[in-house]
Amino acid sequence: MWYSFWIGGEYINMKIGIPKGLLYYKYYPFFTSFFTELGAEIVCSADTNKEILDEGIKHCVDEACLPVKVFHGHIASIKDNCDIILIPRLMQVKEREFICPKFCGLPEMVLNSMSNMPKTITEPIYATSRKKLFKWAKKAGSMITKDKFKIKKAFNIALNKQKSFSTGIKNNNFKLNIALVGHPYNIYDNFVNMNLVKKLNELGAGVLTLEYIDDKFINKEVKELYKRPFWTFARENYGFASHVVNSQKVDGIIYISSFACGIDSVVVDLIKNKIGDFPFMLLKIDEQTGEAGIVTRIEAFVDMLERSC
Ligand code: SF4
Repeated sequence: MWYSFWIGGEYINMKIGIPKGLLYYKYYPFFTSFFTELGAEIVCSADTNKEILDEGIKHCVDEACLPVKVFHGHIASIKDNCDIILIPRLMQVKEREFICPKFCGLPEMVLNSMSNMPKTITEPIYATSRKKLFKWAKKAGSMITKDKFKIKKAFNIALNKQKSFSTGIKNNNFKLNIALVGHPYNIYDNFVNMNLVKKLNELGAGVLTLEYIDDKFINKEVKELYKRPFWTFARENYGFASHVVNSQKVDGIIYISSFACGIDSVVVDLIKNKIGDFPFMLLKIDEQTGEAGIVTRIEAFVDMLERSC
């Protein structure tokens, strides 16, 4: 049992729960350093595992995509060990684009399906400018301290941490190279993707992800579309796939997607129409997906690429 208490305008011994799901993989440096700088203790969930997945399935509606179910499991695993849980309602990271409708309603999904929840931070996050993001920081920070100077300082430190953080995969010295396309929580959560990158490497294929491609190349590809994509994931994944084919950077593309993802259902077709007969494999995953099936499919794909080299 822990004890947090409010003294002189701030909480002492405050524990903030941060679920390791969805865009945690991209933005954890910002969130963890912001709350740490405010003096809170971070309670982060474990890497996704079978128990977390099972809890997610138990607490989430059947129709949801796998990443949202997994997110529920992360919440369930830490909710009893913290004073406040962060449920990031991430709306925008780029002007004139949105993340996904599921992100907009994520707090409501969680709060309607889980009981005995602690307090939550659910303020919408518009990360399209420093000013807009600071608005979120002021509201979230005020749940821990009334010291405005401390919130501003924590925000600046957190933003710098995020700016100096880089992610992405670029394997060198492989005979074959494959572009791995998909959402960060499918690419970087090794439980969800069943260690896909390691498996490809063992088969002799290197992996490239979109973080290693300059945004200007991605945007150039997207400009050729009839209409600018409304969703950030759509712009990035379409632009990346299209660019690696045009620039002959890879031998094939694997798109890792979740069943019930509306955005992917459109993007995958757009990519297929654009790239013609370029080697492409769609791996759709949900909680029923078996590892043996994934292995068989990637072995066959790599084998096909080797033969056509
Ligand atoms: S983008 Fe697709 S996979 Fe991601 S949360 Fe939305 S529906 Fe689910």
